[in-house]
Amino acid sequence: MSTLPTLTTPLSVGVLGFGGLGQAAARILAPKREMRLVAAADGKGYIHDPAGLDADTCIRAYASTGTLGTIAAGGVLSQQSIPDLIAAAPQVQGYFLALPNLPNTFMASVAQQFIASGWKGVLVDAMKRTSAVEQMIALRDDLAQAGITYMTGCGATPGLLTAAAALAAQSYAEIHAVNITFGVGIANWEAYRATIREDIAHMPGYDVDRARAMSDEDVAALLDSTNGLISLENMEHADDIMLELAGIVDRDRVTVGGVVDTRNAKKPLSTNVQITGRTFEGKTSTHTFTLGDETSMAANVCGPAFGYLKAGIELHQRGIHGLFTAAEIMPKFVR
Ligand code: NAD
Repeated sequence: MSTLPTLTTPLSVGVLGFGGLGQAAARILAPKREMRLVAAADGKGYIHDPAGLDADTCIRAYASTGTLGTIAAGGVLSQQSIPDLIAAAPQVQGYFLALPNLPNTFMASVAQQFIASGWKGVLVDAMKRTSAVEQMIALRDDLAQAGITYMTGCGATPGLLTAAAALAAQSYAEIHAVNITFGVGIANWEAYRATIREDIAHMPGYDVDRARAMSDEDVAALLDSTNGLISLENMEHADDIMLELAGIVDRDRVTVGGVVDTRNAKKPLSTNVQITGRTFEGKTSTHTFTLGDETSMAANVCGPAFGYLKAGIELHQRGIHGLFTAAEIMPKFVR
């Protein structure tokens, strides 16, 4: 099979955050030829090896000691692992930011650390809230000036489903509504603490600060009271601003809701996006894109994140810097 002339591979990439998504990211990259995981950080340490990290070694060390910093070969304990890793690993071409966005300004503060460091490369986040993506949009010029290509909202929703909506919109002369409904099944909430806290923050009576302040016991007690289920509707989700920025539909026509089952790996419902519009002939119709029920949240977040990282590295190498969303760039498949 022939392909367009493209990047020199393997690309050296890193993952910031080594919880549920960070560990899945390491496992996804292990068999890839085009990307090599060379750097990873968590809240207590980091590891860096230009020859590549072994996913199993990293996951074992994190599970037994709570940090990558304890790995004998190359691990470093640090209370400021992100700036330390940026300084230690200047040749990393791009990072997937699998970090909690708690508080709601955290990811923007990480982007500012990269800008201040002088590092040039590609950053990808899977942030969910509209107000969080808006903070990134405000950094657009600073990112461009710093020589950083930043891809925001590049997980599942926002991300894969937003991109599917952008593609489906092409059939229509006018878009009436984009409705996203997600079903997530995870066997154990503690594997994805940040994801679950950020979902709780959307529940009636909760916000980001309240969810962030909850202890693990508080979260467990809340989930006991709901039989492990979190049902959400009309969420503040950045799919809306991303589709508006891409010129597809006004943000008030985009709705996002779903159900998370924290006690069952099986999805409580099939994740889908419905795009309703009017064709040039005047017919109203709905396209539906449904994810396979067997695909996990981790597969649907980390796969697109690395697809956007590859697309971002291609843009970066062409001298295109600044901020892009999942609704404006097509992800590239990572082999
Ligand atoms: P997690 O709680 O399992 O892991 C977080 C990791 O970040 C941990 O390793 C922790 O040590 C590390 N960390 C925390 N503070 C740090 C710091 N200051 N420096 C370095 N590392 C730090 O998180 P998760 O459940 O994997 O979720 C990660 C993010 O992905 C969340 O923000 C979540 O909302 C997002 N997410 C997005 C989507 C989507 O579809 N867009 C879906 C699921 C999750």
